[in-house]
Amino acid sequence: MKTIGLLGGMSWESSTEYYRIINQTVNRKLGGHHSAKSVMYSVDFEEIKKLQHHDKWDEATELMIRGAQYIEKGGADFLVICTNTMHKMASDIQKEIGIPILHIADATAKRIKDQGISRVGLLGTKFTMEEDFYKGRLIDNFNLDVHIPSKREREIIHDIIYQELCLGKIEEESKSTYQKIINGLIKDGIEGVILGCTEISLLINQNDISTPIFDTTEIHAQAAVDWALGLFKENKL
Ligand code: GLU
Repeated sequence: MKTIGLLGGMSWESSTEYYRIINQTVNRKLGGHHSAKSVMYSVDFEEIKKLQHHDKWDEATELMIRGAQYIEKGGADFLVICTNTMHKMASDIQKEIGIPILHIADATAKRIKDQGISRVGLLGTKFTMEEDFYKGRLIDNFNLDVHIPSKREREIIHDIIYQELCLGKIEEESKSTYQKIINGLIKDGIEGVILGCTEISLLINQNDISTPIFDTTEIHAQAAVDWALGLFKENKL
């Protein structure tokens, strides 16, 4: 079994989900007392959040590279960045480490294509919904037709992520707000929706939505297990 490197803390509310899903999946596949071999480095999210929202992405990239290097030194065979948003600098990180990164958008796109779906909605932080590092990758590399909510709705989704979900606050009102926004995308013709922020599945699940959901936390964590157990081919960034 390979050792999984986890760059976490963005936020820790979702990193705990990664840790749980990875260990449960290994145990389900191997049985007995098997659990995952892993190394985690967890950031102080306040520092990252400030840099993101003050447009200081170069400094944020330096912190991410440092964390990834600690993980490599700690003996990980490959890296899992436990957030969608911070894949913005995934290729910069890849240049500074010798182990490969398992990209969250690639794992998600593969799952979507396996289900024969091509028109999807994307929910996440405004960085993930609006910038090319994520949406562009889904379109260019996987030929997906990606729909995002309106500008106002994107602001609402973004604020709920940072002001509630990353702090572990789960509010019924926010759940119905997300449902309304997703239902609007369903009316526009999407066949599935990407929960493209690792905290969204703390708020909504498949029972709340009539179209298939693609939970990036679960998909990424399960792909990491497949990679660790040799069931998944490595693809360097
Ligand atoms: N965990 C979130 C994501 O998947 C947002 C927190 C962050 O800014 O990294 O994008």
